[in-house]
Amino acid sequence: MINIVLFGKPGAGKGTQAEFLKTKYNLAHLSTGDIFRFNIKNQTQLGKLAKSYMDKGDLVPDEVTTKMLIDSVESNLDKNGFLFDGYPRTLSQAEALKVFLSTKSSIVTATIALEADDEILVQRLLERGKTSGRPDDQDEEKIRNRYQEYNEKTAPLIEYYKNQGNFHAVNGIGTIQEITDRLTKVIDNL
Ligand code: AMP
Repeated sequence: MINIVLFGKPGAGKGTQAEFLKTKYNLAHLSTGDIFRFNIKNQTQLGKLAKSYMDKGDLVPDEVTTKMLIDSVESNLDKNGFLFDGYPRTLSQAEALKVFLSTKSSIVTATIALEADDEILVQRLLERGKTSGRPDDQDEEKIRNRYQEYNEKTAPLIEYYKNQGNFHAVNGIGTIQEITDRLTKVIDNL
């Protein structure tokens, strides 16, 4: 199995790039944000719970998120591996993913971070909010809160994965094609 964590701040382009990479490498693309939004749309219990956090730009609690992620992995075991988009976002999630993958005799093969400046990303999200219909993209306060969550809870994962020797940073500014090329170069060299 090849398991890639696509890492980056909100708006860095993880979802856009995942669309290309999943086809090229035959990976299952698991976006926890998308799975939560699917549950919100279908008004499930999980969706109702997640919405109360997402609408404020807060992270959904680890236990709920990890259980959902594991269920999604279990139902997508027919591919070459996984492209994790938006997970893990805390150290506890990273540990849970490690423990879970070990039960499949597998590991996180690589963590690839899409890097971009905060101010560019905030503007990008506000722009996206005009068409995405996402409440968390439409209000600058909420967007800033998502960055605060990222800085406090998610940024420490960079050191965590660096210490494991599988962290790669890629410049996330450029055309979609340029960024895809940078990512494939990293993946092809794994
Ligand atoms: P995203 O689509 O990845 O930007 O995620 C949108 C929102 O979903 C986040 O702001 C969180 O509220 C929630 N979310 C997505 N993934 C996670 C995660 N791994 N842990 C906690 N909350 C998450």
